[in-house]
Amino acid sequence: MNPYENYLKQLDNAAKIISLDKSTHEALKYPEHIIEVNIPVLMDGGSLRIFQGFRVQFNNARGPYKGGIRYHQNVDMNEVKALSAWMAMKCSVVNIPMGGGKGGIIVNPKELSKGELERLSKGYINQMHNFLGPLIDVPAPDVYTTPEIMAWMLEEYQKHHGNNYSTKAFITGKPLDKGGSLGRDKATAQGGIYILYDALKKYDIKDPLIAIQGFGNAGSVAASILAKEFKIIAISDSKGAIYNPSGLDVEALFKHKEKTGTVQGFASSKNISNEELLELDVDVLIPAALENQITKDNAGNIKARLILELANGPTTPEADVILFKKSIPVIPDILSNAGGVTVSYFEWLQNMENNYWTLEEVNNKLEEKMIKAFNDVYSTAQKYNIDLRTAAYVIAVKRISEAMKNRG
Ligand code: NAD
Repeated sequence: MNPYENYLKQLDNAAKIISLDKSTHEALKYPEHIIEVNIPVLMDGGSLRIFQGFRVQFNNARGPYKGGIRYHQNVDMNEVKALSAWMAMKCSVVNIPMGGGKGGIIVNPKELSKGELERLSKGYINQMHNFLGPLIDVPAPDVYTTPEIMAWMLEEYQKHHGNNYSTKAFITGKPLDKGGSLGRDKATAQGGIYILYDALKKYDIKDPLIAIQGFGNAGSVAASILAKEFKIIAISDSKGAIYNPSGLDVEALFKHKEKTGTVQGFASSKNISNEELLELDVDVLIPAALENQITKDNAGNIKARLILELANGPTTPEADVILFKKSIPVIPDILSNAGGVTVSYFEWLQNMENNYWTLEEVNNKLEEKMIKAFNDVYSTAQKYNIDLRTAAYVIAVKRISEAMKNRG
């Protein structure tokens, strides 16, 4: 199933429950705009290469389009469309006044020199800047895009629209000295963890044993925060997983990964496969890597008591049905990884007001937003006897459809 089909299925499930009118349902199946640009880049050797870039603007009924820009050789329109729709749902479920968008460039960034990457990033904005802006569409980092790339993009945007404090709000995920927010780097994992603490109480799970799939931005930050309190007994990356039932030393694992390039082969742990990690007898499973990891083929073997999705789209709709029957709650991606976009919105607000918050303020506001959203989703799931994902979509779709109707 491609990610866009997953989104359509999730939308259908929610639409049925709230008896969404046909025209709104239809409108929510398609992005409002897709912008495509061809970017000429002068390569270091003197030749010119053309790169293809996109921006999908899914829905702006609740506020400016918001979402990252991805650099990958396999950037695919179905994936970008799904990601832009999920952004709209995410912003709505945590109730921030932003819509959904997503962008990408078809490129393997590892093959470009730093200078080529800078020219490509500025070239994308040079062609796209009239479609973007603090009140129009606010990009951010995604796969293989970094705060440094956001700074280059800001530089190019300000060339066209003026160098002042409010134009900084055209993009988020910036370095701190370019108007970034404290706490943005850890916000995705931190936001999910605020929800997890509350969920452990609601589902009466004490001293959880935890497995985490993925040791990148989302997974490694989650591991590092959670290891201070709980036992992380398995972690993986693209090369495989490691397992120690007594708990892994996460800080030592960072050093091991830096030295060897993988988590595998870590002292006092056993190498296992990614598939085995997903099926371990743990209390909490945190998929924090890729789409389509928990499917109809392995959902029946999942033993975790709770799943917290930090990755986007790790569970397929068929797997959702199986997990719901097994009474395994899945805290869905559009809720549990929304901490990143929430602090991106805080960054936008700080830029617009030219007033910067302390880390404590950022985290307190993040916690408040995440807990409120989780409680809304939890009570909606109970009210309709549905899974948490459908409940999250019910809330998100209701809010977006009201905003669409209110604009006529
Ligand atoms: P990343 O590239 O930093 O990390 C991805 C991790 O997954 C790496 O450790 C990689 O080795 C591992 N991985 C790759 N293939 C794997 C496989 N087959 N099995 C197991 N592990 C594998 O990416 P990230 O930013 O941490 O994003 C991870 C997921 O979280 C993505 O779905 C992303 O969309 C989502 N997400 C991230 C953020 C964020 O702020 N970073 C925000 C929202 C959602």
